[in-house]
Amino acid sequence: MSAPRPSSPPLAFATRQLHAGARGYDVHGSRSTPIYLTAGFEFEDIDDGRSRFADPDTGFSYTRVGNPTAAAAERRIADLEAGIGALLVGSGQAATATALLTILEAGDHVVAASAIYEGTRELLRADLGRLGITADFVDDPRDPAAWQAAIGPETRALVAESIANPRGGVLDIPAIAAVAHRNGIPLIVDSTLATPYLLRPLELGADIVVHSASKFLAGHGTALGGVIVDAGRFAWDAVPGRFRQIAGETGPDGRTFVERSGERAFLDAARRVAMRFGPTPSPLNAFLLLQGIETLALRVDRQSRSALALAAWLETRPEVSGVDYSGLASHPDHAVAQRLLPDGQGALFSFTLAGGHAAAAAFTTAVRLFTPMTHLGDVRSLVLHPASTTHAHRTATELAAAGVGPGLLRLSVGLEDTGDLLADLERGLRAAGSATTATAATTAATEVVAAFPEAAVPA
Ligand SMILES: *Cc1c(COP(=O)(O)O)cnc(C)c1O
Repeated sequence: MSAPRPSSPPLAFATRQLHAGARGYDVHGSRSTPIYLTAGFEFEDIDDGRSRFADPDTGFSYTRVGNPTAAAAERRIADLEAGIGALLVGSGQAATATALLTILEAGDHVVAASAIYEGTRELLRADLGRLGITADFVDDPRDPAAWQAAIGPETRALVAESIANPRGGVLDIPAIAAVAHRNGIPLIVDSTLATPYLLRPLELGADIVVHSASKFLAGHGTALGGVIVDAGRFAWDAVPGRFRQIAGETGPDGRTFVERSGERAFLDAARRVAMRFGPTPSPLNAFLLLQGIETLALRVDRQSRSALALAAWLETRPEVSGVDYSGLASHPDHAVAQRLLPDGQGALFSFTLAGGHAAAAAFTTAVRLFTPMTHLGDVRSLVLHPASTTHAHRTATELAAAGVGPGLLRLSVGLEDTGDLLADLERGLRAAGSATTATAATTAATEVVAAFPEAAVPA
């Protein structure tokens, strides 16, 4: 499956999101990528079967190992992320788990940003912990010295997000990649919120990118998917004894992945992990992902502009005590965002209602266009209350440290008209304002009753 090389001069992102990796692979010349909804692929003879088993690059055998529709999505995403290749899996969570299981073994240690997707945090803390892999979390991912201080002799990966959720921190990828490489370990970046349209971590020094393709890449809230993209630059064999699964153990041909696959060593090892653990994407979902990507630039550009307008407006409102969006000058990472995200700071941001939990509840019930649900990067606008959902298992101290208060709401801005969205937010704020007043009045009445029980009036 040798990919046709992109011809020079290099094509722009908007062109590649439509054409990269699609043409010249279908025997019938189907212009859209066909959905190869098949479990397996016929072998011509025993020798053909043997060679497809020995080297999946010589042909498909079984969809858990590879599939033409998935392969088209892999080529396209690798192209957009400036990687040498990609591996498509069934969800974003599967992408992170597969990437980590490819690199790590019992006894290894990981350093991650503490502001990270909750599923990743729990995977590191609980599930990989059970397998003897330990993790430490950096509370201030802005500080390269904090990362350095957390690295020990067993550390084998740094993990962070290009834009972190829910408070929108922006990772200074060149600075943290430098720390990783000084210690001979790779930097893995979950770039779900940025998308390759706004930022390409591999061009900034990261080694591996993972995405929840369920979000902006697929874009329409219909299909789950995950992808791992490799820059092909990391020297897995630089320190003998490290990264055994990629550079130490030998296969049936007596060679390691590094010896057999060169710059594709990590990806080939990851494909074997995926083959064994089985987080296979449906070919139908791979197709939906390809179709979503065709409009990625248009959607993310428009969503980022809308998000900036709405965030700036919310910041002026008395019901709102704070807005976390790196597009605003008030955000601590505004300068990093201006440098790394010049084309837009994404569709996701949070804001805090001064009225706390009661205001957040009233807001969520009142809005009509923002759907209350967990998901992001959809064409429709969504609202989520992290303290009662994604972050509900965190302790009060952890929530306070993360800045996730009872009044914090996360918005994922969709493609609706910006004026309509603003009117919807205004409807939410009015409800939040009266809920706060009503709660304050109730509290005052309760206090009066407590002080003077005789003043209690039957309801
Ligand atoms: C949603 C999400 C994930 C997990 O992806 P799924 O496709 O839901 O498994 C991982 N990282 C980030 C930043 C996400 O938003």
